[in-house]
Amino acid sequence: MGLNELLAESKIFKDREVFSPYFIPKKLLFREKEILKIEKSIAPALKGERGRNLFVYGKTGSGKTSCVKYVIDEIRSIPNIKVAISYVNCRIYNSRFRVLNRIINDHMPTYAKRGYGAADLYEKVIRWIEEDGKLFIIVLDELDMVKDLDDLIYTLTRVNTDIKTGGVSLVGIANKISFKENLDPRSLSSLYETELVFSPYYSDELYAIIKDRSDMGFFKNDIIKDETLRFIAAAAAKAGGDARFSLKILTKAGELSEELNLDKISMEQASQAIKIAEEDIVYELISTLPEHLKLVLYSISLLSLTGGTYKKLTNGIDTYLFSGEVYSRYKSITESIHKEPKTERWYRQYLSELEMQGLIISYESGKGIRGHTKLIKITYPSKKVSDILEKEIFGVSK
Ligand code: ADP
Ligand code: MG
Repeated sequence: MGLNELLAESKIFKDREVFSPYFIPKKLLFREKEILKIEKSIAPALKGERGRNLFVYGKTGSGKTSCVKYVIDEIRSIPNIKVAISYVNCRIYNSRFRVLNRIINDHMPTYAKRGYGAADLYEKVIRWIEEDGKLFIIVLDELDMVKDLDDLIYTLTRVNTDIKTGGVSLVGIANKISFKENLDPRSLSSLYETELVFSPYYSDELYAIIKDRSDMGFFKNDIIKDETLRFIAAAAAKAGGDARFSLKILTKAGELSEELNLDKISMEQASQAIKIAEEDIVYELISTLPEHLKLVLYSISLLSLTGGTYKKLTNGIDTYLFSGEVYSRYKSITESIHKEPKTERWYRQYLSELEMQGLIISYESGKGIRGHTKLIKITYPSKKVSDILEKEIFGVSK
């Protein structure tokens, strides 16, 4: 593409902003009930009482962050209100210390923190709340990313017993349903005073969401046909009902058409965009796995490249790997990069984590095949997976 074309006005995009992953529309579709529930749990703070802690969970792209931020904006727009709010993204602030630091930065930016430990920061927060009996709402988004989660929840809920006036209420948000299992029962019961589950979106809902966004961001309504929008929505519904994913496809389709200097988005660009978005998702999923999960998946992908050991007759012939052979390969790869392999107990945990992420399928062999063993099958093309992991693990690509 030459400079002239780059400078030429887009025939597709009128407002690129609305396609950014950070954009929150003023109107959130299909989430009235959820928004109401968030408002209800926070409302007491507006009347000077401590609200109940709220725990929100649901798959990525189900609208959790958008809905909570929507309510935060509502509260902030009320004049003369005595409520203080911190929104903390725990993907970035992923420990108790960092969260406390972030809270202090939000509300006491002049406080010099150098050399202070978590206990000092905690004391500071307590004194700040007691100053004028503040009601403090702390939103902890992406809670699954916090390393010392129990410490964090314990510390933040303890505030209420340590202050003489004011109150803290927590809104925790997590993507993984399994999140609960990782919590200490004590943290669990304090965090779960109220619970709110976000379901994935259906195809029709995704259609309405991307239709709305197209109307806002594309030049004319006829840039993309309804049937193309439905096609995108169906692909995103199939991939798990993730609104972010549907918007990513829509945006990518627009960009592809723009590159070709077209003034419409056709089915062809939509199909291509779906492919690209799907690859991005797999890449993201794999590259953000913790190290040993990467090593296990890498072993699976390498063994799968040479074909499975065990052939099972289903509709066609499906090949599976034995859990034991995967573990041996994992051990030797891990040792080859001078790291300590984890025990088999951990390894089994890793397998179920990989399965939960949809990266592998496993099943118990039942008696007969080598006693009783787990059989494993990779879900994405093994070559693609091993290529990504090679770069991730060794820092080079072949
Ligand atoms: P989560 O926090 O559950 O992963 P988000 O709130 O970040 O999901 O939503 C992902 C994207 O999808 C947001 O950028 C937002 O633009 C869009 N979105 C989600 N839910 C809705 C909705 N109900 N109406 C309109 N857009 C939505
Ligand atoms: Mg979110």
